[in-house]
This record gives sequence, structure tokens and C-alpha cells, in this order.
Amino acid sequence: MTSSHAARDIDTSRPHSARMYDYYLGGKDHFEVDKQAAEAVAEAYPAIFVCARENRAFMHRATRVLAREHGIRQWLDIGTGIPTEPNLHQVAQSVVPEARVVYADNDPLVLKYAERLMRSTTQGRTTYIEADVNDPASLLDSPELAEVLDMNRPVALSLNALMHFVPDAQDPYGIVERLLAVLPSGSALALSHCTPDFDPATWQKVTDIYNNAGTPVQFRSKQDVARFFDGLDLLEPGISVGHRWRPDGESSATDAEVSLWTGVGIKP
Ligand code: SAH
Repeated sequence: MTSSHAARDIDTSRPHSARMYDYYLGGKDHFEVDKQAAEAVAEAYPAIFVCARENRAFMHRATRVLAREHGIRQWLDIGTGIPTEPNLHQVAQSVVPEARVVYADNDPLVLKYAERLMRSTTQGRTTYIEADVNDPASLLDSPELAEVLDMNRPVALSLNALMHFVPDAQDPYGIVERLLAVLPSGSALALSHCTPDFDPATWQKVTDIYNNAGTPVQFRSKQDVARFFDGLDLLEPGISVGHRWRPDGESSATDAEVSLWTGVGIKP
């Protein structure tokens, strides 16, 4: 854990994406200002709660598939969010107890709860780093990361509901490319991303709410989300709406309610 950042103030004067997401998931780790912004989103897009739940469920399924079918034993999860059980390492370690997970987020509030992300199996290992995905070099250089991940073995890069917080001006495709470049063959990218494709008018309102709250967002089309997987072998069923990616059971949700493109690709 980067203790030098631990004392950084938590800004409660404006809403933050991690805390709004906590509200969507029914958590308690947010402030009034986050609740107000989240409720404004819910007014424009009442299915935001469905979207958040399905996003989490995709992360669970993608993690299990990678552990069971693709031999993945290590994960780098960026944009982790405030802990919500089961967290990624709990899902991975329920399949492979020796799984190793590095979590990273740039919201100081997540750091406050990071201890919950450290409850690893004794065979496995987890750590948390406060890092910004917009600076992949510093993130990858972190000594905590080097302690937990063996970069000579496959790593699953998990970017769930993160890249829509990286507008094109910040070179999101270059960032993902740089992160994948250091991972060996057999590594994976698991990604989910909100999309305006099924209900553009609603998503314009959601975009405005986030932008006005000081959190720039760029929700992307299927084609633009597919670009993150350039050069990777996409697992079946390809880029799919969240609840349609290898569902465990029936979901009554509609594509417009879920409004997430999801996919998993393997580095050849
Ligand atoms: N991945 C989790 C949480 C998604 S919410 C899940 O899918 O369930 C998005 C998270 O990304 C928030 O916790 C927010 O703090 C984090 N985030 C946003 N911008 C970021 C950045 N530039 N670098 C690192 N994390 C970021």
C-alpha cells in the first residue's frame, strides 16, 4: 500500500464515481453529495441499478472463466471500486486458492477500505495500490505490484467500468495497449464499458450529469469498445451486452437497461 498517499484528503465537496457506484450497488460507503448525484442519474436512467449489478456479475463470471478454462492465476484489476463482496480475489480464490490479485484505484476513499481487499487465502496474495490508469508506467513500476505478480506468467488485466472515465483526449487505447504490452502471451483483458448504443438520449443525460459533476466521461459504441481488444483473440460469445456474456442463468434485463458492452480477450 502506498502509505505516502494514505493521508490525502477525501474530497466530499463533489461527487466521485467510486462512491456513486457504491450507491448504485446498495453500499453504505458514500456521502450525501454522491447520493444526490447518483439519484440524478437514476432519475434519468432508472435501470442504473440493473447496469451496476450486471456489471458486477460479469466481473464474477469473467474471473471464473479465466481461472477455470484459461489457467489464469494472476489479476491486475484497475478501477477496483469500493470493496463489494465478493471482490475479485474472493471469486478467483474460490476457484484457485493460490490466485494473486493486485488492485488499483485512484480514489483515496478506496484506499481507506483497502484492508478488505487484503483478506487473501494463505496460499494466494493480494495488494492494493493507489494509482491512476492515465499513468500506466507508474502503475506498472509500483514495487507492490512486482511483489505480487510474476510478469513472466499470464496476468488478466481487469478493467471493469473504468475506461468510460478516460475520454479520447487521454488516449485510452494507447493506455490499454501499454498495459497489455508488458504482459506475456496467454494473458487476458476482461473489460466492461457503458454504452449509449441502446438509448442515446438517456445516455446523453447521464453524460451531462457526470461531466457537470466534474467527472469527465465518454460512453462508447460497440465498435469503439471493440478497439480495446485489437490484437487479442476474443473469447466466445465476443463483445456482448453484459448479461449475455456467458450467463449463468436467465436474466430478465433488457439490453437498454444493462447498456454495457463486455468482453474477454486473450493475448496470442
Ligand atoms: N471495477 C469495479 C468498480 C467500477 S466503478 C466494478 O466494475 O465493479 C469505477 C472505478 O474506477 C471507481 O472506483 C473509480 O474511482 C475508478 N477510477 C476512475 N478513474 C480512474 C483512474 N483514472 N484511475 C484509476 N481508477 C479510476
